[in-house]
Amino acid sequence: MQRLLYFDYNATTPVDERVLERMVPYFTQHFGNPSSSAHPFGWTAAEAVQQAREEVAGMLGADPAEIYFTSGATEGINTAIKGVAEAYAGKGRHIVTAATEHKAVLDACRALERRGARVTYLPVDGQGRVDPEELEAALTDETILVSIMWANNETGVLQPIEALAERVRRRGILFMTDATQAVGKVPVSVEHVDLLVLSGHKVYAPKGVGALYVRRRNPRVRLVPLLDGGGQERGLRGGTLNTPGIVGLGAALELARSEQPAEARRLRAWRDRLEAALREDLGDGLQINGDGAERLPQTSSLTFRRIPAEYLMMNLRDLALSTGSACASGSGTPSHVLTAMGRSPAEAEATIRLSMGRFTTGEDVDYAIERFRAAALAAAGCEPSAISCQLSAVSQQPEASSQQPEASSQQPEASSQQPEASSQ
Ligand code: PLP
Repeated sequence: MQRLLYFDYNATTPVDERVLERMVPYFTQHFGNPSSSAHPFGWTAAEAVQQAREEVAGMLGADPAEIYFTSGATEGINTAIKGVAEAYAGKGRHIVTAATEHKAVLDACRALERRGARVTYLPVDGQGRVDPEELEAALTDETILVSIMWANNETGVLQPIEALAERVRRRGILFMTDATQAVGKVPVSVEHVDLLVLSGHKVYAPKGVGALYVRRRNPRVRLVPLLDGGGQERGLRGGTLNTPGIVGLGAALELARSEQPAEARRLRAWRDRLEAALREDLGDGLQINGDGAERLPQTSSLTFRRIPAEYLMMNLRDLALSTGSACASGSGTPSHVLTAMGRSPAEAEATIRLSMGRFTTGEDVDYAIERFRAAALAAAGCEPSAISCQLSAVSQQPEASSQQPEASSQQPEASSQQPEASSQ
């Protein structure tokens, strides 16, 4: 079978074997409900949840009592944004966020707009950054919450969180950050924020678990729960706790805490090597989105100015990559992140995201460089006007198909499942 290398760690990560090892006993042997306070089955599970709470808090510099377990970042984001909107409705109904946020934030804000809230979507500069002064100018006496992501999922661009939060919090307004893509990749702490969201499946823990940090002091943040019932998580999140998942999240963050610095150094060196090699080959035919800003060490958002991205994707089916537009999923909408950064819809559609992670090797990176080079060379005669949202349109071009010997005959099994970048 043809090789298939995974370069889509921003979409999801595999569970680390060491994480799985710690989780397994909580499926079988220690299966008790952590809320069963009358017997040792419950006590054992409750102790494991408490240990995980301490591990998550330790990673973030928080108090364990400030950590609430959720089903993932989407739930954490909805709990925080809608919970603040309801709890602080008496103070005001204005929320500020950025145009490049994840759909979980944007859609939660849109839902609140339908219920009468006012939301400001801040623009970003060409590098994807929010301007602290522009943020400050958007604040009003009615503003109750500002939500700005720590790291962008498509480009890896890091926001100046401390500078942004400082301007917001000194006005007595709550500052929240979606740190889903930052945790485990760069140092993250709750020092400057009031609410923070993270997700297990981006940090080598399983899917379906996450955590929400809610500040208890200076100020004490109030939230109206999204889910009622059972009183779990001190009444903020009803429902039986996912003990194995929570144990996995704690274990994964404990590992990330010790491994993140070395992992970041290794991945940054490989990411830089890959970008330098492609730049050398393609010159100004390649744009690296956000390369003038601080970025995650393992994410490359690559816009190929003269090569249709679909053409590249077809020729790179042995690399699991992600497109920078939602075209491939059939929605036909170019990435809201890239267009907010000033890229044209055609450029957004000609963008590929490559994200590395813990199990990427130097050989994988060399192989990817070689494959990108071969595909770019093969595409040399391809017209930019051939860019189309229809993969089929590309595959029907006679010149294109004659230049891609591997594409049609040796598809690896997973190749037809390219997820869309804009929602991961
Ligand atoms: N926020 C960001 C920045 C993400 O990348 C993702 C993942 O796709 C989410 C939120 C949603 O996370 P989850 O899948 O845990 O709900």
